[in-house]
Amino acid sequence: MPCVSTNQCLVSLQIIALRLNKSLVIAIEKGIFKCKKYITQILIKKTNLYKSLKSVDNIILPLPFINFLLKHAMDKTKKNYAKRLLVKLREVFPAAECSLEYDSPFELLVATILSAQCTDVQVNKVTKTLFQKYKTPSDYVNLSVESLEAKIKSTGFYHNKAKSILSAAREIISRFGGIVPCSISELTSLSGVGRKTANVVLGNGFGINEGFVVDTHVFRLSHRLGLAVGSVPAKVELELMAVFPQGDWCFLSHALIQLGRQFCKARKPDCNNCPINSTCPKIIK
Ligand code: SF4
Repeated sequence: MPCVSTNQCLVSLQIIALRLNKSLVIAIEKGIFKCKKYITQILIKKTNLYKSLKSVDNIILPLPFINFLLKHAMDKTKKNYAKRLLVKLREVFPAAECSLEYDSPFELLVATILSAQCTDVQVNKVTKTLFQKYKTPSDYVNLSVESLEAKIKSTGFYHNKAKSILSAAREIISRFGGIVPCSISELTSLSGVGRKTANVVLGNGFGINEGFVVDTHVFRLSHRLGLAVGSVPAKVELELMAVFPQGDWCFLSHALIQLGRQFCKARKPDCNNCPINSTCPKIIK
């Protein structure tokens, strides 16, 4: 019986991994991949080492190795798909951008806080008047909660929103010299500012892609497009960050929001007229 040393086996396995990853990716993309056993089959069949491996009795690729190959190939498959999707979204929504109106990072911060559970159209109506008089953090510090609440009431949840805006304004003055900070850790340290709001301000106000804005549209579309399986926005954000180039995160969140508003609506996705119909796996639950 031919003898294969442990080292020879390891080298063989590495070569298989390098040579056959591409085959595995194609198999997954074409939907011919069915189970882990299949990986062993295609790996062995397509490698130049087939003959030598065949001559060894009872060859079983170790499970951790198969899992490693599978994960690697799946990641690669997902990245290829994400690349195609990005190209398509750039074609369909070349000018996708933030629909909130603002003239400074602070105004954007205020508008983003107001946009929770409210449409951007309604927020823009409110801020059109609000920003005429209240532009900087110091404009807000002497404003009473009641007075601000009255001005933003039509955006809903106005008690909490007024508190968050006033606290953020005070903290920006006391801790950051009146300048909106431009790092995710500093922004999320402000009262009432979560990761989503911080990502909006960083991406649109400062041009910094430090995270992915995962709002209700992006969350829904990430699942329908097969980009994420996470059950909470923080997990979906990590999944999106893993497959898309960092420089495109801000654009992509706006493109997905636009796609969600126009075609992939929560209750009734309009797949027939959707411009990415041919690319989308339509994972609709
Ligand atoms: S094809 Fe359907 S499920 Fe996919 S993004 Fe378009 S509307 Fe949504």
